[in-house]
Amino acid sequence: MSTPKEPPLMEKVVSLCKRRGFIYQSSEIYGGINGFWDYGPLGAEVKRNLRDTWWRTMTREREDVVGLDATIIMHPAIWKASGHVDTFSDPMADCLVTKKRFRADHVDSQSGVVYRWTGASDETGKTSADSFSALLAPGKPPESARKVGVQYYTSRGLTNPTLQGETTEKVEDTRAFNPENGAQLTDPVPFNLMFHTFVGATATEADKAYLRPETAQAIFAQFKNVLDSSRQKVPFGICQIGKAFRNEVTPRNFTFRSREFEQMELEFFIAPDEAIEVLQGSVARWQEGADLSAPQPNWGWEMWHRYWVKQRTEYYNGIGLGTDVLDYHWQTPEELAHYARACVDILFKFPFGTEELEGIAARGDFDLSQHQKHSGKPQEVFDEELRAAASKLDDAAKATFVDRVTGEWAARAEKNKKDVETARIAAREFCEKLFKGQYVPHVIEPSAGLDRLALAVIAGAYHEEDKTDVNGKTERRTVLRFHPRIAPIKLGVFPLLKNKPELVAKAREVYEQLKRHLNCFYDETGAIGRRYARQDEAGTPFCVTIDFETVGEKGDELKDTVTLRHRDDGCQERVKISELLGRLLPQIQ
Ligand code: ATP
Repeated sequence: MSTPKEPPLMEKVVSLCKRRGFIYQSSEIYGGINGFWDYGPLGAEVKRNLRDTWWRTMTREREDVVGLDATIIMHPAIWKASGHVDTFSDPMADCLVTKKRFRADHVDSQSGVVYRWTGASDETGKTSADSFSALLAPGKPPESARKVGVQYYTSRGLTNPTLQGETTEKVEDTRAFNPENGAQLTDPVPFNLMFHTFVGATATEADKAYLRPETAQAIFAQFKNVLDSSRQKVPFGICQIGKAFRNEVTPRNFTFRSREFEQMELEFFIAPDEAIEVLQGSVARWQEGADLSAPQPNWGWEMWHRYWVKQRTEYYNGIGLGTDVLDYHWQTPEELAHYARACVDILFKFPFGTEELEGIAARGDFDLSQHQKHSGKPQEVFDEELRAAASKLDDAAKATFVDRVTGEWAARAEKNKKDVETARIAAREFCEKLFKGQYVPHVIEPSAGLDRLALAVIAGAYHEEDKTDVNGKTERRTVLRFHPRIAPIKLGVFPLLKNKPELVAKAREVYEQLKRHLNCFYDETGAIGRRYARQDEAGTPFCVTIDFETVGEKGDELKDTVTLRHRDDGCQERVKISELLGRLLPQIQ
């Protein structure tokens, strides 16, 4: 008898998520809705823990970052200024036979022989002059390509069509065919990912508004208010956690690519390198081994960018995602947006492949400048120290500075195929303002997805163990090895036996006492081993059992002590109830 095939890891993760109440399909009782997911009792706790750790490290523990909580629907002009209305789209292609929709750049690249037909006719005399092609994968008979051709012309209204003008050609690495049936896809067309709605009762085009596709733009739109009301000064950051919506062409990989999701974004505003140069005499640039432990006044954008990559990596390490599961993709000049100086994607080794968890981009002054242009409201800051430093430069030094900056801006424009003369004029205006102490801040943007992170920590925590009981029976058990900071339940509290009122009363007392400080779960049903197993599967890092020793039946020495059991190594130790909090809190905070 052959052994049953193991389901792939991702399938097991998805099934556990539903079984234990981490993640369910949204609207499941009505057949679900593609790209939308709900978090059950344990998933909601995981998400909350992730949000809390992010918020704490990004703002509460820092003096130079403040928070924001903005609305999902904002003035539509924001999305025009940001470029989302015109360019926030993915290429979309449809299968000409099944009509299935694909994100054109995500179609698997294929090689094989393309069969092309100039048209078809049928026995009723009907003809079609539409050309069509199908890809024949290596090893398949030509008839399977022709079958797809027949399906296509049948869908065009022909009965038992005869294919005409067949030619063949070998192709390599094409994304132009449906990987499932080889049928030709339509040419890719841009599909705007923003969901829209109407604000107000008239529902006319003039009332059209968008559900935000990212949280970042609210930060830019409120930059001046935060600056004026928070007593922050560049360099400083504004962070936000909130829902974002994208009408993804093909939502997939469970929650990885959803249509409604949460982002955790920071916009860290810094002075342009030119301002640092005037202030500090020179700009510290990144080089291998540079000290990134604490920000320095002479840091330019490169150092700040590297600093945030390091900070964010340390954050992931601190919640249990080590270097073994993370990777980095530094975008190539061809991949970078035209305004971006650099962008690195922090990747996680998901069961379905190594994919983006967070992007950290150095975006220059693009965003604030766009809002300045479109709103007509200045987004510049004034720095008295910069003005004072500039006033100490003599005319010759200023002229040399302006010449150099103008040359650099012109070269950048040329590289980006932008108008060089416009760049020169802008550079001169920029220098003029800089000497007066004014500039539009540049920004470093670490932008993470909360749902992707939740999926990463669940998939990363998933382990299976074979356990043999006292009777020699081996059972495969699932253990979620969450970092204690992320675990949905921190502590399981059990009376050894549920029919001993003194044990139950003491266990309830311990539970009532600790639940105010950490998320505890009280469980008195089933054998103690079963209860441990249930908590292992939920990822609970600690369990305490209240037994006869606890209630003083084995002498005073062990009275008011409990068995503390550790999830990952199964070790058990005796700990005084009064010492439990002191032992556990540092590990979960
Ligand atoms: P991708 O290339 O995977 O579509 P992106 O580069 O468009 O992502 P950003 O616009 O940089 O993503 O968004 C920042 C973060 O928001 C991403 O790193 C990701 O964690 C999260 N995110 C973006 N789109 C989705 C989505 N559809 N579902 C879940 N999370 C998302």
